Amino acid sequence: MNTEKKHKLEITKAKESKIDSVDFNNLSFGRAFTDHMFSCEFKDGKWQVGKITPYEPLTLDPSARVFHYGQAVFEGMKAFKDQDNQVWLFRPEDNFNRINKSAARLAMPEFPKDIFFEGLTELLKLDDAWIKNTKGSAMYIRPFVIATEPAISASPASEYKFMIIMSPAQAYYAGEVRVLIASEYSRATDGGVGFAKAAGNYAAQFYPTSLAHKEGYQQVIWTDSNSHEYLEEAGTMNIFFRINDTLITAPTSDRILDGITRKSVIQLAKDNNIDVEVRPIKVEELVNAAKDGSLKEIFGSGTAAVINPILGFKHKDFKHELPKQEAPYSAFFKEKLNAIQYNLADDPHQWRYKI
Ligand SMILES: *Cc1c(COP(=O)(O)O)cnc(C)c1O
Repeated sequence: MNTEKKHKLEITKAKESKIDSVDFNNLSFGRAFTDHMFSCEFKDGKWQVGKITPYEPLTLDPSARVFHYGQAVFEGMKAFKDQDNQVWLFRPEDNFNRINKSAARLAMPEFPKDIFFEGLTELLKLDDAWIKNTKGSAMYIRPFVIATEPAISASPASEYKFMIIMSPAQAYYAGEVRVLIASEYSRATDGGVGFAKAAGNYAAQFYPTSLAHKEGYQQVIWTDSNSHEYLEEAGTMNIFFRINDTLITAPTSDRILDGITRKSVIQLAKDNNIDVEVRPIKVEELVNAAKDGSLKEIFGSGTAAVINPILGFKHKDFKHELPKQEAPYSAFFKEKLNAIQYNLADDPHQWRYKI
């Protein structure tokens, strides 16, 4: 293998590409990974030299703290290729800032910005052939940090690994989504880690979500943990409600993740003269709006699906199917966001980041 030094980054290229073994017309989300990965270790109190190497399994000591105490945080972002084969990221500084915010909450060290952007840029350049410019194609990027120190005493680790892996993705279609509004389980609590992209937040919602599956609902809408009266998140997505022509979403808090898609939708609504209210919204208000016909749409927002329309919901014994809209807001926002992401529209807020 030939190893070259680039700035502070060490790059070891894969001997051959496995790209031919991947069927780009039949990708299931997050299963195929590109030829290379980025990693950087934290030890002796500092981040070491970042490395790009062939994608391969890790070797970790079984006592690595991540396996025992769950010090693990991650991000989800995407790269898009335009018709001139130029690659773009979407608001990547926000992902960078957020992974450090998540890390700080889990007593993990913050990652340096220059190494993050250098590693990410070089990785995208090396695996450029994996990014397709066909409609809906994108590269899903997964940065994450785990505690690797081999020691099972219950305290924060002194050694970590920061990594970036990448998985080619097609337009994400989540299938028909109906949701169950939580009235028993909770995803996050005041003073907890709900705002962080902590791996454990996902682990905690798999079981209640599997109960929802059994009832025929694909996702759970989480409510506040104190009273279960306020609508908060859709688990892997933020959530928007359209009542008449007003868009409503809950304010971010300890319990609600500050989604980049969410804040982009709020900005696009303002840019396009759509009334948007960021305020607590009660389950009761939703149910009443469903009953009197003023509830027009519910949709989730997140990097993977961008916008995911929701077809119906259940809360306790109340079931509701949403009416079909001629010009749904969900489709409007998805198109606006995609147009910016694929460099097909102006970018007045400088959300695109050129690779
Ligand atoms: C990642 C995530 C979102 C969506 O955030 P984006 O930045 O829009 O991808 C929403 N809620 C939770 C709990 C998340 O983990």
